[in-house]
Amino acid sequence: MNVSRKIALVTGASRGIGRAIAGQLAKDGFDIWLNYHSNHSAAQQTQKEIEACGVNCTLLPFDVADEQAVQKALSVFLEKGQVPYVLVNNAGLRKDNLLVFMQTAEWNRVINTVLGGFHNVTKTVLAAMVRAKQGRIVNIASAAAHAPVPGQTNYSAAKAGLVGATRSLALEVAKRKITVNAVSPGFIETEMLDGLPKEKILPLIPLGRLGTPQEIADMVSFLCSDKASYITGQVFHVNGGVVMN
Ligand code: NAP
Repeated sequence: MNVSRKIALVTGASRGIGRAIAGQLAKDGFDIWLNYHSNHSAAQQTQKEIEACGVNCTLLPFDVADEQAVQKALSVFLEKGQVPYVLVNNAGLRKDNLLVFMQTAEWNRVINTVLGGFHNVTKTVLAAMVRAKQGRIVNIASAAAHAPVPGQTNYSAAKAGLVGATRSLALEVAKRKITVNAVSPGFIETEMLDGLPKEKILPLIPLGRLGTPQEIADMVSFLCSDKASYITGQVFHVNGGVVMN
């Protein structure tokens, strides 16, 4: 039997936080469009776990920073009338360096992936979501947008920009019953933290531990549920108390 389920497009979902978000949205009953960049084996493993929930999972490898690649990958489905109900802009990376030493390529890669990725993916699906007059967009920001640390001018600028874009877009599409919110994680245990000194990080966290990807996924799940229908333009901090505002 062909069951028609709502679709959730999650970027950067082969590993880490995106993988947990895609897995939770699958448990919530969404078919998943799973974007990632190049780690095919991780993506295939995540796909298996998602399909075990009884929903469909379509792998969409593309670089979110490459506008043409994004449009090429998604237009195939959009032209068939398939429209995501949920878009989670999660793909991201760090290229830390003090600004005085930062290569232009390091600056551009982070800005183009986090902020450019938001632009490229959202713009590609937005017209169809607007026509559908429903939907949820969740942008994964960072505590670095609100409480920056040295060595992350590129990352903090991109994530703060994403928060601004979240609020502006929320105003643009509210009349079309599309909500747009951001989730700002603190220190979450994923490969992105590899190489950072845990012994220096832990004392900064009031709850005394790193967060789990599932704790971010639970907030995203709530924002994509019927329970969050009156919430838009907001930023939700999931960070063990590291930033309070
Ligand atoms: P992660 O474990 O390093 O996973 C990154 C994911 O993004 C992977 O699926 C990767 O795909 C994908 N990706 C990277 N660049 C991409 C690109 N150009 N196009 C498409 N996909 C791309 O990172 P994470 O910790 O889960 O982080 C997820 C998001 O949360 C990021 O936006 C990050 O900034 C944010 N965040 C994380 C933390 C934290 O403490 N972990 C804190 C605050 C915010 P491949 O597997 O193919 O490489």
